[in-house]
Amino acid sequence: MINAVTKLLRGQYVHTNNTKQIGKNLYLIDLETGGFKNFIGCYVIKTAKKTMLIETGPTSSIPNLLCGLSELKVNLEDVDTVTVSHIHIDHSGGVGTLLKYLPNAKVLVHPKGGPHMVDPEKLWASSQSVLGFVSEICGKPEPVEQDRIVSMTEGTINLGEEGKLTFFETLGHASHNLSFHENFNNGIFIGDAGGVYFPEFNLTSPTSPPPFYLEASIASLDKLVSYRPSLLYYTHFGKTDDAIRRLRGYKAQLLMWDKIVQSAVAQNKSFEQIVECVLTEDPLMNMLSSFLRGHKIYSKMAIENSISGFVEYAKKVQMKKVA
Ligand SMILES: [Zn+2]
Repeated sequence: MINAVTKLLRGQYVHTNNTKQIGKNLYLIDLETGGFKNFIGCYVIKTAKKTMLIETGPTSSIPNLLCGLSELKVNLEDVDTVTVSHIHIDHSGGVGTLLKYLPNAKVLVHPKGGPHMVDPEKLWASSQSVLGFVSEICGKPEPVEQDRIVSMTEGTINLGEEGKLTFFETLGHASHNLSFHENFNNGIFIGDAGGVYFPEFNLTSPTSPPPFYLEASIASLDKLVSYRPSLLYYTHFGKTDDAIRRLRGYKAQLLMWDKIVQSAVAQNKSFEQIVECVLTEDPLMNMLSSFLRGHKIYSKMAIENSISGFVEYAKKVQMKKVA
């Protein structure tokens, strides 16, 4: 196994010292996908009884993930569960590659996501069309063997005396997003259900690529609040406190975007004009806009794709009104 890892790592971009402990039995690996820090994280839970991962990141980051596990002194044979919030390739594209190094691990995924892990061709084609050059930075997913997949929408994972992990659906960003609550630090791994968090600014922005489901997103945020979490763990990126205030703030931000975009679409504004409206009328985006516009990946994912999701949603709402 060690030789296989060494072989994979040789000659590829690998960054070390990318791990940190962020809570009791909990670690974060910065995957530095494409060389970008604070972009995609993998969370590792280590208890006496269990070692598990939440999110793998994309194929291209697996060498960095293996490096992180080695820094954390994780024995690869001990990892028995890999979970992903949803199957967008920035979160789970690396599962097929990673499993080659984790002989005893099963993958927990929403039932709608599982088939796309077994046969990733359709997922890859849609990733290329939605993400463009970002899909090339992430890399094509390798297939996952059917018998390693466990498909569920809700349940509890026993972590031994230290506590448990409860998972449940938080739809909206995708039609198959799961979130995971851990009761030993009282935090929730929210995938993309709470937006993108920028630790440099201590702010969030929507992550709402088409097809985006606003009502489902709002319902998911209410469900997340009902767990009364203290902490949030964002895949993009990192741990924050003040969880309930942030979830409520994100809900308000989604409703604000909806209002801005609905009004702009009703006035037949161009996509570029709608982008301007969102970046100037949402005060949080106002603070983030020069950072986002200057960021190779976020200019695409957090501006273009997220606003496209709202535009598509607004057009559907207006079609319904006409009908
Ligand atoms: Zn994402």
